[in-house]
Amino acid sequence: MEGLMMGTQLLVSSLLRNAAINHPTTEVVSRSVEGPIHRYGYADLERRARRLANALQGLGVGPSDRVGTLAWNTWRHLEIYYAASGSGAVCHTINPRLFPPQIVYIVNHGEDKVLFLDLTFVPLVEQLASRFETVEAFVIMTDEANMPEIRLPGALCFETLMKAASEDFEWPSFDENTASSLCYSSGTTGNPKGVLYSHRSTVLHAMAAALPDVVDVSARDVTMPVVPMFHVNAWGFPYYTPMMGAKLVLPGPLADGASIHELLENEGVTISAGVPTVWLGLLQYLEETGKALSTVKRLVIGGSAVPRAMTEAFLDRYGVEVRHAWGMTEMSPLGTINTPPHGMQDETPEQFCDRQVKQGRAFFGVEMKIVDDDDNTLPEDGVAFGMLKVRGPWVCSAYYKESGSDTHDGNGWFATGDVATIDETRNMQVTDRSKDVIKSGGEWISSIELENIAVGHPDVAEAASIGVQHPKWDERPLLVVVRREGAELSRGDMLAYFEGRVARWWVPDDVVFVDELPHTATGKLLKMQLREDYKDYVLPTAGG
Ligand code: AMP
Repeated sequence: MEGLMMGTQLLVSSLLRNAAINHPTTEVVSRSVEGPIHRYGYADLERRARRLANALQGLGVGPSDRVGTLAWNTWRHLEIYYAASGSGAVCHTINPRLFPPQIVYIVNHGEDKVLFLDLTFVPLVEQLASRFETVEAFVIMTDEANMPEIRLPGALCFETLMKAASEDFEWPSFDENTASSLCYSSGTTGNPKGVLYSHRSTVLHAMAAALPDVVDVSARDVTMPVVPMFHVNAWGFPYYTPMMGAKLVLPGPLADGASIHELLENEGVTISAGVPTVWLGLLQYLEETGKALSTVKRLVIGGSAVPRAMTEAFLDRYGVEVRHAWGMTEMSPLGTINTPPHGMQDETPEQFCDRQVKQGRAFFGVEMKIVDDDDNTLPEDGVAFGMLKVRGPWVCSAYYKESGSDTHDGNGWFATGDVATIDETRNMQVTDRSKDVIKSGGEWISSIELENIAVGHPDVAEAASIGVQHPKWDERPLLVVVRREGAELSRGDMLAYFEGRVARWWVPDDVVFVDELPHTATGKLLKMQLREDYKDYVLPTAGG
C-alpha cells in the first residue's frame, strides 16, 4: 500500500524560496572582488536569481545545459548557483587553482555553454578561451563601471545582462533526480573526474548537514564558509544556510588571517568552515595582534587532517569549538563529523582535544565500513585499518560520462581511496590516502600520523612524510619539513621529538628541510610531486 502523502520534489530552488518567504530581510554579506562589502536580504537574492534565470534563458541555456563558473565566494556566484540549478540547468563550478590544461579539460569535458568569471580570472580565460570547444558566451561578474578591456569574443557584463532581464520567472518543478550541479574531483593522478549532484542529493545533504550533531545551523546563526564555492559547493553552506534562514557571510577572494578576522568580528559570525591552512593563518594573525574571537562558536575543519595543536589553541585561547569533519567531492562532501555519542558529553578539554584528532562519526544518511584487500569487513577496534567504503543518498553512484568504475562495488559501496580505522565509538580516523601509505617491510606506516606529530613541534610550520625506496625494507619514511620563521630546528631535534610518540620503527629515517611544500589546487599536500622529487633519495639507513 502506498502512503498518501504529497510527492513534492526536493528541489534546490525550494531552499531559496523558503529563505525569501520566511527570512526575507536576513542578510547575505559579501566581500566583493572589486573591494567594497555588499549586503542584501534573501528576498533580494531570490529576485535577482529569478532575473538571472531569465538572462540565462536569453543566452540559450536550456534544461541540463552546463553553466560554468570561475569565481570566488560572493553574492553573484550565489545567484548563479540558484539561477542555474533552479531553472533546470547545471551549475558547474571550476577550481581556478587547477593547472590551466586541467581547466581546459574540465570545461570541454563538462561541455559548458556559458562561462561566468570573476575579474580576477579574466587574464586566465583570455589565455585559454580559444581552446574551449563549447563555450558560447563569457560573462564577467562585475558592473559596467568596473568592466575591463577584454580580449574575449562575446564577453558580457553581468550587471548589464541583469538590467536587461525581467524578474518575472516561476521556479519550475521537475524530477528531483535531475542533475543540479557538477564538480570535478581534484584527483592527484589522471584527469579530473566529474561528480554530478542531483537536486535530491543536494537537498538531503543540506538537511542532514544542518542538524545539531553535524554543522548545527539555526536561524540565529551567522555562517561564513571560507571553503571556496568552487570546492564541493563550499561544503553545502550555500544551500543549508538559506534553508535554515541564517545570515550568510561570503569572504570573496581574501582568505588571509586579517581579512577573515575582520569579517568574523564585523558580521558577528558564529560558525565558519575551511581547511586547516586557513585556520593556521588566522591563529598566527591572532597571536601577532593579540586580538580575540568574540562571536565565533564553532569551526568546522576538514579537507586535511586537523592537528591536535589547532583544536587545543582554538579551545584554550579563544573558547572556540573545533569540529573535525571528513568528506570528499564524491560525497557532496560531508561524510563524518566529530561529535560525541550520548554518554560522552562530560569529557574534559583534554579528552575533547584527543577525540578531535579523529575525523568523526558517520551521521544519518551515511554508512561506512573498512575492508581489507579481499573486501572482508575489518573489526572496529581503532587498530585495524583498511580501505574506507561508504554509501548513501549523497554519495556518487558513478562518475560523469565514465562507463564502469573501479571505485564502486556490486553492493552499492564506494571505495573512498582513504585508509582508516574505526573505533568502538564508531569514530573514524583516516590514516592515509591508499596511495600515500608508507609500506615498510610489509607493514603500513601512516604518513598522516607522522605529519601530525611533526606539526605538533613548536618550530615546525608544515611537514610531509613520504615513503622512499629502501634496499631492505622496501620503503622507509622520509620527513620533509618547513621550519617556522626564525626557528633553528635540527634533524636530531626533529627525530627526537618522535620518541615515545610512535613505535620505534615508525620514526622517519631522515629529515629534509625545505622552504615550502608543493600543494594541490585544493590545498592538500602534493605527495605525488614529493615522491617524484625524492625518488632517488638515498636514506642514511640504506647501507645497513
Ligand atoms: P576532495 O574531494 O578534494 O574534497 O578531497 C577528499 C579527500 O580529502 C578525502 O578522500 C581525504 O583523503 C581528504 N580529507 C578530507 N577531509 C579530511 C580530514 N578531515 N582528514 C584527512 N583527510 C581528509
